[in-house]
Amino acid sequence: MKFVSTRALNNKKEYSAAEVIKQGLAPDGGLFVPTEIPALTGEDLDRLAGMTYPERAAEIMGLYLTDYTREELLSAANAAYGAPKFPEATPTPITKVGDLELLELWHGPTSAFKDMALQIMPHLLSMALTKTGETRDALILVATSGDTGKAALEGYADVPRVKIHVFYPTDGVSRIQKKQMATQQGSNVNVTAIYGNFDDAQNGVKAIFADGEMASLLDKEGLFLSSANSINWGRLVPQVVYYISAYCDLMNAGRLQKGDLMDVVVPTGNFGNIFACCLAKRMGLPVGKMICASNQNNVLTDFINNGVYDRRRTFYQTVSPSMDILISSNLERLLWLVAGPEKCASYMEALRKDGVYAVDKEVLEAVQEEFAAYFCDEALTKNVLREIYEQRMYLADTHTAVALSAALRYQRSLEEEKRTVLVASTASPYKFSPAVLEALGKTVPEDGFEALRSLQKISGIPAPARLAALETMEDRFTEVIAAENMKEAVLAFARS
Ligand SMILES: *Cc1c(COP(=O)(O)O)cnc(C)c1O
Repeated sequence: MKFVSTRALNNKKEYSAAEVIKQGLAPDGGLFVPTEIPALTGEDLDRLAGMTYPERAAEIMGLYLTDYTREELLSAANAAYGAPKFPEATPTPITKVGDLELLELWHGPTSAFKDMALQIMPHLLSMALTKTGETRDALILVATSGDTGKAALEGYADVPRVKIHVFYPTDGVSRIQKKQMATQQGSNVNVTAIYGNFDDAQNGVKAIFADGEMASLLDKEGLFLSSANSINWGRLVPQVVYYISAYCDLMNAGRLQKGDLMDVVVPTGNFGNIFACCLAKRMGLPVGKMICASNQNNVLTDFINNGVYDRRRTFYQTVSPSMDILISSNLERLLWLVAGPEKCASYMEALRKDGVYAVDKEVLEAVQEEFAAYFCDEALTKNVLREIYEQRMYLADTHTAVALSAALRYQRSLEEEKRTVLVASTASPYKFSPAVLEALGKTVPEDGFEALRSLQKISGIPAPARLAALETMEDRFTEVIAAENMKEAVLAFARS
């Protein structure tokens, strides 16, 4: 299996999976896409249904990562998805809520779905270094407003041939998020708070990536810079696995018959999670419609409904912050598949230049053939969260509530009565305790841990042990520096 850049028009250079995972972004600024989509047959589904989650992961990822051996992928999948990382028997349990099937993707170490990719991707990167003959080790730099930083730290901690340095704005993350990062274990990790906001941290990291002197100083230490960005193919391919795995689990449980169509609702920000579902569908998984659920930042809803992608709009900070995005990077991969490289390149150029593009009629029809879209404002998000809790006894987080709202509206629009609708549940409600309490109409304590305890008491549902245990853990990283000093901090860590 070979990969090309979405922006390559004539001279299409091909890359191996290991190169793609190591490089993250193509040299021309495009995203890596596979030159063909592997097929999944009915017999394959039967075989996969008889396997454990790590075995399914090794099998499915192996269709794309053909330069990795089955043993390598299985050992990576076992390390990523077994205990102690995922303590429960199934990493991705499915809960029935009314007529909906909720696929819970947040039973990993940081209680959010990004663990599904970030637990395994570091192993893939570490192996990619050997496969590509890279003699240096990778130094991952991350600027975070909270969730991605912690998920990346947990994933890369103690992975061979990789170091990771995370920067976050000292007053820009919640108390629990800060505690999650400050207490991070592992001999190859570093965490530094900076004075300023997320943009200051992000700009600092970008400046380091663009700094030629820095590259040569790091080279002397036997290191090169790399990122844990969500557009890396190594983060996308593990996400294909859980859609196929969910279908197998529903087959095994007799909740659908092989061949039945399954619609899938995904709370969407960067279009990564839902695009992984699209790949599963194109591989042959019987997926009907994919429903893209957005919060008040509804740029994707407008695009799927009207064919115009217009980022020139107000940016809202919502109670589902991981979906507060106006440029959904992975949409470029869908456009490449649907519209072809030439049109895709012209849309991306228009987006960069003017902040807007409109696709033509055939492209829009092709998109609508596969996707539907709904969005949810703040009031609706909170209402749905409360309704599902009161009527169905299910405690959803705010991101999942956005998806549930879309799922319920989609279901009402269906003419067929019986149809399996799978909803991706992307975070534990305890990850966003204050917002969940507010939605339930309860008093919201100032302190994050107080809020967590309060939610636990009200719902009677235990919080993930790892979140609750944080409060009494010793901080390892307490340093706060000026954003101007980020470069020195990285160098000091590189030399340590
Ligand atoms: C990142 C995130 C999303 C959005 O996923 P994309 O792949 O960016 O579309 C949704 N919910 C939660 C909790 C997240 O952390």
